[in-house]
Amino acid sequence: MQLKDQVVVVTGSTRGIGKEIAIAFAQAGATVIISGRNEQMAAETKKEFVQKGLKADHFACDVTNLKNVEEMVNKILDKYKCIDILINNAGITKDNLLLRMDEADWDEVLNINLGGVFNCTKVILRSMLKAKKGKIVSISSIIGLTGNVGQANYAASKAGIIGFSKSIAREIASRGITVNVVAPGYIQTDMTAQLNDKTRDEILNHIPLKRFGSPSDVAGVCLFLASKEADYITGQTIIVDGGMAI
Ligand code: NDP
Repeated sequence: MQLKDQVVVVTGSTRGIGKEIAIAFAQAGATVIISGRNEQMAAETKKEFVQKGLKADHFACDVTNLKNVEEMVNKILDKYKCIDILINNAGITKDNLLLRMDEADWDEVLNINLGGVFNCTKVILRSMLKAKKGKIVSISSIIGLTGNVGQANYAASKAGIIGFSKSIAREIASRGITVNVVAPGYIQTDMTAQLNDKTRDEILNHIPLKRFGSPSDVAGVCLFLASKEADYITGQTIIVDGGMAI
């Protein structure tokens, strides 16, 4: 299998896109580290994987807490010796028009979506630099490229991931480590389940492929970017949006 013996950390992999990414990597032969803030959900998700014969472990971790990230990474390195691939997926939305947006909602979205990418990348990069190899893929959003009404905090965090990744890609290219971004459009998960029918229809009208994406549409691109076939790709943002932003 293509990722046999590789260790992959997927943040926010207890549900939605992160879980699907974890499944895709585990099916490709990797050992996947399931993580999220909710310990019980992480443990249950890992159990599901193991029952299906997939290799997985779990660690509860809040990506906003640098100490927490360091503890998780130290435990993984003690047990598995290396981390080959990092998928920065954990993210939330707290939508509101700017004039109604609380400072707390601005801070929380920036802290999780962008601060989490900073914390996990910084801590895991140390071991990748020692190993002189590694692949980092972060999940941004099409909203980080286009902006959206009521999502100034989310758009800023997701645009930030793109600038951050281009910078780190340049910093560490000479060390054999690639850094790329996936920018999904509307994907069917808990995050988008709250949309009402009218909004869903309006969005669908703007998607040339006339359907919402599935988590596996995103997972396949992550798998490619983390594979050997993508060794010569770094600093890029791949859009997975059914053509919405053409
Ligand atoms: P979900 O809400 O379904 O899942 C989010 C995951 O992130 C959960 O596992 C959650 O676990 C975890 N998480 C949230 N906050 C933290 C935190 N502070 N520390 C660690 N883990 C955390 O979201 P989606 O699957 O829809 O989204 C996944 C990513 O894809 C996000 O970055 C999102 O912005 C992005 N995206 C999603 C799109 C969509 O249409 N769904 C479109 C474009 C991008 P727990 O709550 O237990 O911590």
